[in-house]
Amino acid sequence: MPSNHFDVIIIGTGAGGGTLAYSLASSGKRILLLERGGYVPREKDNWDTRAVVKEGKYHTKEGWHDKDGKEFHPGTHYFVGGNTKFYGAALIRLRKEDFGQVRHHDGTSPAWPISYDDLEPYYTKAEHLYQVHGKRGSDPTEPPASAPYLYPPVSHEPRIQQLVEDLERVGHRPFFLPVGVMLDEKNPQKSPCIRCSTCDGHPCLVNAKADSQVICVDPALEHPNVTLLTHAYVSRLETGSSGREVTKVQVERNGSKETYSADVVVVSCGAINSAALLLRSANDRHPSGLANSSDQVGRNYMAHLNSVMLAVSKCENPTVFQKTLGLNDFYFKSNDWDFPMGHISFVGKTDANVLAAGAPSIVPGFTLELMAKHSLDFWLTSEDLPDPDNRVTLTKKGGIQLNYQANNLEGHKRLQAKLKSLLKHIDCTEDLLHMHAYIGKRIPIAGVAHQNGTLRFGNDPKTSVLDTNCKAHDLDNLYVVDGSFFPSCGASNPALTIMANALRVGDHLRERLS
Ligand SMILES: Cc1cc2nc3c(=O)[nH]c(=O)nc-3n(C[C@H](O)[C@H](O)[C@H](O)COP(=O)(O)OP(=O)(O)OC[C@H]3O[C@@H](n4cnc5c(N)ncnc54)[C@H](O)[C@@H]3O)c2cc1C
Ligand code: SF4
Repeated sequence: MPSNHFDVIIIGTGAGGGTLAYSLASSGKRILLLERGGYVPREKDNWDTRAVVKEGKYHTKEGWHDKDGKEFHPGTHYFVGGNTKFYGAALIRLRKEDFGQVRHHDGTSPAWPISYDDLEPYYTKAEHLYQVHGKRGSDPTEPPASAPYLYPPVSHEPRIQQLVEDLERVGHRPFFLPVGVMLDEKNPQKSPCIRCSTCDGHPCLVNAKADSQVICVDPALEHPNVTLLTHAYVSRLETGSSGREVTKVQVERNGSKETYSADVVVVSCGAINSAALLLRSANDRHPSGLANSSDQVGRNYMAHLNSVMLAVSKCENPTVFQKTLGLNDFYFKSNDWDFPMGHISFVGKTDANVLAAGAPSIVPGFTLELMAKHSLDFWLTSEDLPDPDNRVTLTKKGGIQLNYQANNLEGHKRLQAKLKSLLKHIDCTEDLLHMHAYIGKRIPIAGVAHQNGTLRFGNDPKTSVLDTNCKAHDLDNLYVVDGSFFPSCGASNPALTIMANALRVGDHLRERLS
């Protein structure tokens, strides 16, 4: 075998690719990881809100285009560990109901081809692997789980504890948000995590966030059979004469072109880049893009309806680590509305730099500094629905073009109204302010943090790109394990589901390769 031939090539080292690498590392198979980025540099700017949020220091500088050809800069990151280096590590399961059809105001969210029970054991494994801290049973909408969390929930700081009590007083059921930070509150001197305010959206300077690099890629690389090439941009996949197998992986690295091959090739570049890579890899056998006989590659792009809303607390909010509380009381249909609204939790505590970047309207009499001292910084997520016209295509030069028209907005608006109606009960003023800067969302289409759905899996090759093992229907050795396999996305943050699925596909590949 030539030395550039491997058993498995994994392209991308984020939540999907990194987790799969970990899952396969101990198999002894020769595994090559190809990652377009390098390691996040460890430097003081990691924890500087000005550098990270205001100046977008770690965002890709790549320009993408909207449907009208207008350039924008997406809020995404190319590094070892992918976007998990920057995520808020809220690691939440989809609800059991999300795996079936769900009726929404604007349409129906389709069922998955696998059930919650199929994924459940892998959710548990992923929670344990990523050191999720949480409390089973505190979230009343939580699906059944086969094991407890291994780590206790991250405690609420006093202002958040007060919020819990205020919400409970009016009949709500706030819960401990499950988070992947290596915090040991019983043993603070030895705790890797120091419980700081610059977690969500920032890389962790002390490597205490359970991200894909720290948890999966670094341990995988301890196995001699695993190799990582950084700054290795995969430009194209080529197939052999039958068109059924990827035979060459074309890489641009350090200004030169290199070619690798493997028995199994796994694409995990993030939903948008994975679709773009398959489209760029069109050839005679696959004229409209690799694995695209269904014409579904790039379609059904989803990103969740996300917003950050600031409530102004009458007392100060000196909370440091704010992401400890979630509220799913509006996740499903309710007494006063027949459709789901979504999930409420928090982003990391904002400061004046973050607020300046988000340009919220200022409450009269407040400065940015004063607002930051008083804000409770809520995160709201609702489900958007798959629409074939919301899609990734390529520009004439091969760049990324993203067409996205948000849908199912009524549920999200009602979720915002629900939060507003709670303000009088939680010691806040009546003001609820939109904040746009977080996760690069200065313009809505750039908010690609929760990207998913562009290569959906399913049983029918006519309507889906991947089969239930996440293998392309049209090819025998091409798999995808990032967020693109989602046929629908619920209203829970996506990373844990991507990780769990990567472990599931890992088991399948181990069997295939044995
Ligand atoms: C600020 C922020 C906060 C977030 N907070 C949360 C949260 O609290 N909870 C949650 O569940 N989710 C959160 N997310 C979302 C979460 O990070 C993503 O859902 C998850 O990382 C997606 O995993 P993935 O494997 O699909 O892609 P990614 O993690 O994006 O990984 C893709 C990898 O592929 C590489 N790549 C791309 N193209 C190529 C190519 N052509 N060649 C080689 N390599 C390539 C990229 O560099 C990257 O490393 C957040 C995201 C952001 C940005
Ligand atoms: S809160 Fe903990 S895990 Fe997050 S950045 Fe700070 S030290 Fe790292």
